[in-house]
Amino acid sequence: MSFLLKNGTLVTPGGVLTGDVLLRGERIAAIGSHLPCPLGTEVLDCTGKLVLPGCIDTHTHFEMNKGLPNETADDWASGTLSALCGGTTTVLDFAEPERGASLQSALDTWHSRAEGHASCNYGFHMTIKDWNEAIRAELPAMAKQGVSSYKIYLAYQLRVSDAVAYEAVKAVSALGGVTGCHCENGELVELGVKEQKARGNLGPRAHPAARPPAVEAEAVCRYLAIAERAGGAVNVVHLSTKRGLELARAARDRGQPVYLETCPQYLLLDDSVYDLPGFESAKYVFSPPARSREDVEALWEAVADGSIDTVGTDHCSFTTEVKALGREDFSGIPNGMPGVEDRLRLLYTYGVAAGRIGLERLVELLSANPARLFGMWPLRGALAVDSIADIVIYDPNITERISTKTNHSACDYDPYEGMEVRGRVDTVLLGGEVAVSEGKPVRTGLGRFVHRGGAQFWR
Ligand SMILES: [Zn+2]
Repeated sequence: MSFLLKNGTLVTPGGVLTGDVLLRGERIAAIGSHLPCPLGTEVLDCTGKLVLPGCIDTHTHFEMNKGLPNETADDWASGTLSALCGGTTTVLDFAEPERGASLQSALDTWHSRAEGHASCNYGFHMTIKDWNEAIRAELPAMAKQGVSSYKIYLAYQLRVSDAVAYEAVKAVSALGGVTGCHCENGELVELGVKEQKARGNLGPRAHPAARPPAVEAEAVCRYLAIAERAGGAVNVVHLSTKRGLELARAARDRGQPVYLETCPQYLLLDDSVYDLPGFESAKYVFSPPARSREDVEALWEAVADGSIDTVGTDHCSFTTEVKALGREDFSGIPNGMPGVEDRLRLLYTYGVAAGRIGLERLVELLSANPARLFGMWPLRGALAVDSIADIVIYDPNITERISTKTNHSACDYDPYEGMEVRGRVDTVLLGGEVAVSEGKPVRTGLGRFVHRGGAQFWR
């Protein structure tokens, strides 16, 4: 099938222009003004609409804790459908081995969960929990199978020691990949939780109190020092604080290649969400927690000035029922919330329409930078000739409110419920096929595994 996307506002690597995009098969065949329409080509009128490369979500957790009481609501079918309807054509999810198990076992499990169910394309970051010679020896095989990025944690039970972090960053970097890190000091978090409980603070309000900004700042500082010693490029995932940001900027000033991801929740929510009545705040128990207005403003500045590289959602769809596991004790509330469908609209509305960022920066954050850092550029993440035709047609002329009623996640709430957004994802093309039309999914199950190469660093 061929399509001619006619007269849209095109956001290309070379700039924003008004024109046409010709798709042939799964690729972009031509970009220009007044392109001729070959026989048998369907025309999609894009007048007044934005034509963007499909968005790449760098951070999702679908079908997490499978089979456990705290399993997420979204499996690969509903999670990727929700992503697709929000303009995301590729997600990068976190494969996580069982304790003591091989990386290959996790990769096989994640493939088996996603294959045949996914409605958008997908790749996997690999989580490193254990480190030994057998794991080290698996890294080249991971690269051969299209996995070039890794994740370690400095918090939770799966946290690694400084020595393991060092070994992992060094080994991954030698293969041209990047290691992302959840930067919170796990021991300090555990102490904070204990202290809150000892004071009788058992509600969700105690969650942010147990993990204040210093806990993130310490871990960012330590991780960057480890990365400096290991000599590798690293990524700090879901950065939430001004203090963490300042540490990363200082490391960059010393010449260190540091990449930063933040999430919509750190740009659109603040710690007032923990003042909601009753158990309502449990919806906003995610880690790191929502921060102060000062942090929010600092992150927006960093989004605008280029300090932040990517915005991923950290979609982790625990329902209110699952959240209730921590009704008597906040430390039992599963950490995470949905949002995979909302990212483009939120960033467009509160970034572009609000005058904080331009369209090119929007595309950098949501498409181009993720594609570069995670080994997909320029095949994906670019509205360019020969790139894969993963494309979003966005209609900025509609004003709606975010609602679980119209979203496609299986979760029973949306953290941005009722928030006004400018624009709507009108059409999504996945590999040159129309998967979403007039805001509704029309083809499901088109998602394929994306075999990724090494990172293309720009820092
Ligand atoms: Zn996460």
